[in-house]
Amino acid sequence: MKNHLFDLIFGHDVDRAARFLIDGHGRTLTYGELYDGAGQTANALVAAGVRPGDRVAAQIEKSAEALLVYLGCVRAGAVFLPLNTAYTAPEIAYFIDDASPALFIVDPKRLDILTPIASAAGAGVKTLDANGAGSFSDLVRTMPSEFENIERDPDDLAAILYTSGTTGRSKGAMLSHDNLASNALTLVDYWRFTKADVLLHALPIYHTHGLFVATNVVLLARASMIFLAKFDADDVMRRMRDVTCMMGVPTFYTRLLDHAGLTLESTRHMRLFVSGSAPLLAETHQEWRARTGHAILERYGMSETNMNTSNPYDGDRVPGTVGYPLPGVSLRIAHPESGAILPQGEIGVIEVKGPNVFLGYWNRPEITAKEFRADGFFITGDMGHIDERGYVHIVGRAKDLIITGGFNVYPKEVEEEIDFLPGVLESAVIGLSHRDFGEGVTAVVIAKPGASVTEQNILSALDGRLAKFKLPKRVLFLEQLPRNTMGKVQKNLLRDQFKDLYTPKS
Ligand code: AMP
Repeated sequence: MKNHLFDLIFGHDVDRAARFLIDGHGRTLTYGELYDGAGQTANALVAAGVRPGDRVAAQIEKSAEALLVYLGCVRAGAVFLPLNTAYTAPEIAYFIDDASPALFIVDPKRLDILTPIASAAGAGVKTLDANGAGSFSDLVRTMPSEFENIERDPDDLAAILYTSGTTGRSKGAMLSHDNLASNALTLVDYWRFTKADVLLHALPIYHTHGLFVATNVVLLARASMIFLAKFDADDVMRRMRDVTCMMGVPTFYTRLLDHAGLTLESTRHMRLFVSGSAPLLAETHQEWRARTGHAILERYGMSETNMNTSNPYDGDRVPGTVGYPLPGVSLRIAHPESGAILPQGEIGVIEVKGPNVFLGYWNRPEITAKEFRADGFFITGDMGHIDERGYVHIVGRAKDLIITGGFNVYPKEVEEEIDFLPGVLESAVIGLSHRDFGEGVTAVVIAKPGASVTEQNILSALDGRLAKFKLPKRVLFLEQLPRNTMGKVQKNLLRDQFKDLYTPKS
């Protein structure tokens, strides 16, 4: 039967004997084994009581078997719901209650604490560990590989991704078969993926980057990947010679720049380095180019929309920008309150529309309605502008915007000035509650190892470079910035940590 996403993943042109992945222990999976394994997995899901449209939640370590759960769900018409392995039991309770899955696949180490949560929501529980063993695999092994795919249309749900939810509760973004398929097809083409490619995959697979961007692109290109459980700079450098491309978050690139093995020679054969999920510092882009000769290709997307923009494959990959809207994606800049479309060059909220944009938030019709304009554009919550060459620039999340004395300050603009100063590794600029100004612009700075940089140095250097109202009222120093697993700076944690800076409790 017709199954929109799986029919594309496993078309007639697939060579069953070709390798799909090799993991960190040298275990391989061919495309034929992938197809059969997904069939067995789909049978196991049905045997475990999963019906078409049911959610299958999984909080499991990265493994080839975990990918088979995703593909088994696609074949069985179920909705795959991957959960960050770092989530604690109370966080998990919220997701399971909200999504009411039919089945929850968990790491055996967490079976005791997660079983009551699953039971309370009426979900069955099975286990799968980092080596692919557990009660779910025991069931899979007893199943035949033949499986008649469940019919799924382009608009049917394929997955729910919960947003990272740095403010308020996280919401489940509903992604359709075509949201995933159309975006992956676009990226294969835009980034020129072919079956000759070998991707270095060191990203987690509970997030859109590692699961949908990386894995679906490899699948649809009939390419292969080296599938590592986690990012480790030594390991990645050792494997570099066997791959043609890598997709990473900015932290991968900064860590590799600290590795002596990263040279022109060790990366000469590489075709493409892609970065996304968090802003790549222009300085990292430039250092990478100087060391390796490669211009990192930065792209921009989010759980709700898959990928929206990309720097070009041919042509200038401009540091500090996220490139052009992808083919088929309409992107505009609007006034955050009125929704008026702003002229080129002005900063506003980024809005997108296209086959990549999700169907809405699970169980949250009112929030969904608020986040879409009447003409179907999704309000991303990212602030940005488009330059005269058409490149999109992101200046920060709308919620990170600082309003001080009635003036808007976009953190990125201040951060860029600070990052440029000698002795500074990186910075995060936040607004903290301030009696006179409403919010006080505050810089949190990480100095380069061994550098002696002071609050006064930074404030003097910025004076004259930025309008007075944008100047930080204080500069604080930390050893490192708090980041989530995708490398995003968690400004909410910084705001919390320093919330009484200007309004000390008496
Ligand atoms: P997530 O849903 O976890 O993928 O987070 C999506 C958010 O990550 C976006 O809304 C942006 O704020 C941010 N993001 C993703 N890619 C980039 C990028 N290349 N530059 C700046 N921010 C990015």
